[in-house]
Amino acid sequence: MNLSKRAAFLIVPVLLASYVLVAVAVYYAERSSVERLEQARLSNKLTELRSTFSVYASFADSYLFALSESEALHQFLLEQDNSYRQQALGSKLEAALGNLTRQRSDYLSFTVFGPAAVPEFYFASTDNPFSEISSVELDQARQAWLSGGLSGVSLERTETGDSLLIHHKLIDRRTFAAPLATQRENSVLVQIAVELNAFDQQLAELVEAYDARVTWSEESGPRPRLLEHEVRLLPSLYLRVEPDERFVAKQLTTLAQGLAIGALVLSGLCALLLTSLMRRFITEPVAELEHQLNDVMHGQRNRIDIQSRDEIGRLAQRFQQLYGQLSDAYRRSRELAERDTLTELPNRNHFYEMAVRELKAASDHGYHVALLYIDLDHFKFVNDKYGHSVGDALLKSFSQRAGVLVKQETERSPRAGQAILARLAGDEFAVLLYRYQDENHCERVAQALLGLVEGGYRFEMGSYPVTCSVGIARYPQDGHTITQLISNADTAMYQAKNGGKNQVAFYSQELARQARWSLEIEHQLKAIDFDEEFFLTYMPILDGRGRIAGCEALLRWYSPVLGAVRPDQFIPIAERTGLYSKLDRWVIAQALSDFAALSKMIGRQVQLSINLSSAELTGGDVDRYIGEQIRLLSVPAEMIEVEMTETVGVDASRQRDQLLHRLRDLGLQIAIDDFGTGYTSMMQMLEYPVDKIKLDRSFVERLMLPGNFALLEPIISLCHARGLKVTAEGVETEAQAQALIDSGCDLLQGFLYGQPMRLAEFELWLQKHQRDTQS
Ligand code: C2E
Ligand code: CA
Ligand code: CA
Repeated sequence: MNLSKRAAFLIVPVLLASYVLVAVAVYYAERSSVERLEQARLSNKLTELRSTFSVYASFADSYLFALSESEALHQFLLEQDNSYRQQALGSKLEAALGNLTRQRSDYLSFTVFGPAAVPEFYFASTDNPFSEISSVELDQARQAWLSGGLSGVSLERTETGDSLLIHHKLIDRRTFAAPLATQRENSVLVQIAVELNAFDQQLAELVEAYDARVTWSEESGPRPRLLEHEVRLLPSLYLRVEPDERFVAKQLTTLAQGLAIGALVLSGLCALLLTSLMRRFITEPVAELEHQLNDVMHGQRNRIDIQSRDEIGRLAQRFQQLYGQLSDAYRRSRELAERDTLTELPNRNHFYEMAVRELKAASDHGYHVALLYIDLDHFKFVNDKYGHSVGDALLKSFSQRAGVLVKQETERSPRAGQAILARLAGDEFAVLLYRYQDENHCERVAQALLGLVEGGYRFEMGSYPVTCSVGIARYPQDGHTITQLISNADTAMYQAKNGGKNQVAFYSQELARQARWSLEIEHQLKAIDFDEEFFLTYMPILDGRGRIAGCEALLRWYSPVLGAVRPDQFIPIAERTGLYSKLDRWVIAQALSDFAALSKMIGRQVQLSINLSSAELTGGDVDRYIGEQIRLLSVPAEMIEVEMTETVGVDASRQRDQLLHRLRDLGLQIAIDDFGTGYTSMMQMLEYPVDKIKLDRSFVERLMLPGNFALLEPIISLCHARGLKVTAEGVETEAQAQALIDSGCDLLQGFLYGQPMRLAEFELWLQKHQRDTQS
């Protein structure tokens, strides 16, 4: 229920109750006054009635008196001649009567009665010339004679129901005065009758108005009850008026109804007025405030705009302030939640949110989306070697440059769409490219990113061997959700890393297959018994004169599940998963136990090279294990050479140097493998406590190119100057072999001489080789 409805619900009952209360009080106060009023009004009416009656009575009285004293009546009474009397004197008397009655319209009669109430003269003020005296008047005259009274007055009722006031008087025929008791027979009775029309009408009106009962009596009745009235009209005539009891009740009902309707109408009107005032001044401003607040909260407006100076206006101001503070705090915490604090790039969560939005738009409108997963190569090395401040500065610098670059690339053409760069974690970044129309756009951006780290990363704090690997997954072909795209771009990025780092890889079914393949290798490596599936092969190493100088043990894995798996497939996995140590120990034990058989086949002791995982350089005690095995199998230490690959991932040079020293202390020879592929400079490499440098196959190949060929000899000379021997790997042609020998290379290894072989094969190869060299 909203505010105005609630206000109406509160106001209406209260108003109604108070008006009903007032109406009830008014009713009770009015009730007695209604009764009193009606009483007074009735008494008034009766007084009026009585005075009307009195007017008639005094009229009749004075009329009778005037007539009984009149000359006309005296002559009439004195005249003996009856006919003359009737005609001459009767008309005289009529004339006198006519004069008196001229003003009155009511019926009036005058009669002179002789003895025994026989009428001697009769006059009536009527238009009918033949009218006769009424029986009521005759009866009254007779009674008057009989009663013997000198005068009297009575109120009678005619046959038509009209009231007739009859006044009579006895007078002496000669003296015209009241007769003595003895002189009755000489008397006449003069009688006057007046019809009380006005009185009757008033009485009838009163009866009708009050629905009253009227009673006449000769004596006064009992004390009148409420609203009952009694008036004395004549000395022995009382009129009693009793209004119907329901009369007052009806009045009161009318009053009650009036009050009830009044209360209802008034409370209705007041409620309307009050609610409209409240709506105008309270609920509407509050509703407006709520409305604006709602809009502000939904971001449809940015401030509350209520100008009034009252409480609501102040409330609005408070809300505005509160909203300002809250939105500032919200903005700050959102920035914290959405931004990465170091680089100020969007963080992983925020990146996901934005990517989800863009993928939705892409699915709605058929846009392109690509996700570039960027991982810095060798960042851990820089971080460990130069400290976290350098690492942080490098990340900051890289993210700035990458940000500028991505912006430039997207602004390059209108078909390039838009981009978001984010930092996902540590040295991992991502770029979301969306709404671009040019298929080559993502490849271009990825290559541009590689360009940022070409030949390592240089910035204010120096130059570092950091590159990056970029994996790309695209919508819709490589995934529909952000999780799929991230995971697939990550797979592609791993592929780029495994493929030698500093490169771009697109996610593809083939790549996913390779990733699954790697995963299966990992599972198998963890599950298998090495003795059952691993075996060693040996590859001959020759000196410049074609003599066997040694052989290198190379690991082979034949898995019944996966088939033959190449070492460059499973060794990086073993290194990544920590299985390298177990694997190296198996190789060391196997190669050392083959040493005696090899020496026997060759006919003398030659150098046996064993590869160690570069992960061994991160610490650990592989030297202890080698020492134990040498003693156990009585192998001369100086005949064993360990080959280690220089990788930049090696964290502490101190740990590496210590291990190399311990291996040397055992009397072992040490060779740096894959020389020419890493990032450490040649001069640095020469500082290591090692005995030999093995030039990598790809490096040899490059040195054979016409432009580079001149470098070959100085490199070899440099190594010699440092007391290091040089082995060239991957020698496949006579020409290569000759060039290497001419340049002073000490040892040669490659398919030109022999592939890695199992012991039995190696023996056959040796025999053939010996035959060839002897001939
Ligand atoms: P690596 O130590 O540089 O081994 C030399 C690789 O070059 C061998 O490949 C060998 O077959 C190949 N190779 C030698 N001469 C030629 C040539 O003239 N032409 C061509 N095309 N290839 C040639 P392989 O045996 O496949 O080994 C690959 C890598 O796996 C090795 O490179 C080494 O890093 C690692 N590896 C092999 N065996 C072991 C082992 O027992 N322990 C450890 N930790 N790593 C091993
Ligand atoms: Ca090797
Ligand atoms: Ca090598």
